[in-house]
Formats: sequence, structure tokens, C-alpha cells
Amino acid sequence: MNKQSQKNANLRWLAIKEQVYKKHSLDFQVIQRDGFICKICGLSCKNDFEIDHLIPKCKGGEDVLENLRMTCRKCNRLKGGK
Ligand SMILES: [Zn+2]
Repeated sequence: MNKQSQKNANLRWLAIKEQVYKKHSLDFQVIQRDGFICKICGLSCKNDFEIDHLIPKCKGGEDVLENLRMTCRKCNRLKGGK
């Protein structure tokens, strides 16, 4: 591996790390805001939660705090089945 491709590999790795960090810190912010309470049924979902997009990504929903909410897995499945 020459110096240039080594540098590119490092940059790629940095970009991946940044993405992962961003995603995780966003999840963390949702958890902090919603406090492990499912936004659909209102029950605690500490052991079985999912981070749900209000507007699905396939419909242009963004990965921002305002578009995310905490749900339990069950509610998220039911919602997905509609
Ligand atoms: Zn629920």
C-alpha cells in the first residue's frame, strides 16, 4: 500500500467513524428525551425499544431528533404492518 492509498483508507475510516458516532449520539439524544417511554402505547420499553422515524426515510424523512421517537418493538412492528 503506498502513502496515498493509505491516506485514503484513513479518511474513509474517519468518515465511517463519524457516521457511527453521529448515529449513536442521535439515538442517545432520543433516549434522553423520551426516557424509555414508548411514544405509541406510553409504556416503558427499556428492554425492548426501537428508534422510529416519524417520516420514514424512504419518504424523505431525515435523521434528525425531531423526526425520531422511541417506541417499543411491538408497536413499531404493528405500525410497520399497516
Ligand atoms: Zn409501545
